[in-house]
Amino acid sequence: RGETRNATPYATHQAAGTGHVDNIIELSAVRKEFVVRSGFLSRPQRFVALAGSTFSIPRGSTVAIVGESGSGKSTTTRLVLGLDAPTSGSITFEGAETSAFTKKELFDFRRRVQPVFQNPFASLDALFTVGATIVEPLVVHGWGTKESRAVRLLELLDAVALPADIAARYPHELSGGQRQRVAIARALALQPELIVLDEAVSALDVLVQAQILDLLTRLQHEFGLSYLFISHDLAVVRQISDFVHVMQNGVIVESGTPDEIFDSPREQYTRELLAAIP
Ligand code: ADP
Ligand code: MG
Repeated sequence: RGETRNATPYATHQAAGTGHVDNIIELSAVRKEFVVRSGFLSRPQRFVALAGSTFSIPRGSTVAIVGESGSGKSTTTRLVLGLDAPTSGSITFEGAETSAFTKKELFDFRRRVQPVFQNPFASLDALFTVGATIVEPLVVHGWGTKESRAVRLLELLDAVALPADIAARYPHELSGGQRQRVAIARALALQPELIVLDEAVSALDVLVQAQILDLLTRLQHEFGLSYLFISHDLAVVRQISDFVHVMQNGVIVESGTPDEIFDSPREQYTRELLAAIP
């Protein structure tokens, strides 16, 4: 893993001539509060899900966030995807403040930043074939003709190593690993630059996890993708990431390379996460 990382020319490359790292996205002091009630009759209270996250994703790299359930990982992904707005702080995409996006800019942002979730198509099973599921973003974005989308579909299936005849099947007829490949193909359809993977391999068994991680690494090299990779599982994160943030109760408590986090964790919380690896 170490060798592949060093051999990756775009891992954390510097923007030509500028002397600074080319970040695709930057979060600065991002805070997210929710209004919650502890009981039916109790007063609404403010709950701090993110206490002020600051991190960035260098173009072409994989940045991971690990932490136990409830630590604020999915809240982070929803903010990065623009599905929810921070209470305070700033998120910039290629230097532009996402909260100031016009409708047109937001539409373009939604094309360039794509999600892959843990259990894709759980609610769509009976409705769409694999083919329709993958080309749907193309239809939404008015990409190509019916014929050119059919060609693109075959390219996408090939990219994720699925056979062409799977296009006529329904997601519920596929294995978990195949379904996740379909989700990745769909995410790739509009040629995004950043893919946000929220527990994308967590529901898969170890062997299939490894296959999907290999696929993600290959696609990153092929298409120069950046990943925000979310997982509660430090062992998975070690395999794929260039940089790791450890999150506890909405706070990034420790950051480092996978080797630093694994071999010399500074925080007790990180040691506990490591101890949880079988
Ligand atoms: P993780 O993905 O790390 O398991 P989440 O980001 O989903 O954690 O949640 C972080 C905390 O924020 C949890 O305590 C969760 O209950 C709370 N939370 C998340 N979304 C909401 C919401 N829409 N309303 C109220 N609380 C929420
Ligand atoms: Mg989550």
